[in-house]
Amino acid sequence: VFVTFEGGEGVGKSTQIRRLAEALTRRGHDVMITREPGGSPGAEAVRHVLLSGAAQAGGPRFEAILFAAARSDHVEEVIRPALDAGRVVLCDRFMDSSRVYQGVTGDLDPDFIAALERVAINGLRPDCTIIFDMPAEEGLERARARAGIPAGASGELDRFEREDIELHRKRRDGFLDIAAADPERCHVVDARPAPAAVAAMVLSIVEPRLPD
Ligand code: C5P
Repeated sequence: VFVTFEGGEGVGKSTQIRRLAEALTRRGHDVMITREPGGSPGAEAVRHVLLSGAAQAGGPRFEAILFAAARSDHVEEVIRPALDAGRVVLCDRFMDSSRVYQGVTGDLDPDFIAALERVAINGLRPDCTIIFDMPAEEGLERARARAGIPAGASGELDRFEREDIELHRKRRDGFLDIAAADPERCHVVDARPAPAAVAAMVLSIVEPRLPD
């Protein structure tokens, strides 16, 4: 069973994936955690190129192709073999991140993104996708706190912060649009409650989808 986790910055994805993996392992499931971009040796090499900014000069289309190349390697080398072996695969970001980051806020043509998606996932669609949701301002605040950036004392936003919030809003809407269009696969989870409460909600969504 293939479960993916999506959402903007600061929504607590990685904490929740860890908690879910622990809960499922206690219940006897064979769980693997992985992440994008990366997750296989080839894709981790591409991740390094992407996150270092080294590919920026090539432009957004080039970057999107690299994300797709990384995803393809990750799918064929790691995810599909694990699923074939009967494991539960929990993946931190997958194709919906490309639809949102490269598509919605990267200003790339949705047809181009869809074509890359088809090539990269090669038929391997998630069985279930958890979309962690919170207002853009709160997610940004949490991400900044994690990075050790203090919130503006006056509450005034500088230009950079405003741009960031606009991007975060667009991404949040992008993820919610995906969920609305594909309600069988996608489940929106309010990421604001205490971590234990969010974890219980996630478990209640994922567990019924697993084999006994
Ligand atoms: O939040 P996380 O640790 O998963 O961050 C990975 C980063 O990689 C994201 O903040 C996002 O900027 C970027 N990313 C992206 N397109 C993807 C996946 C991740 O731009 N398809």
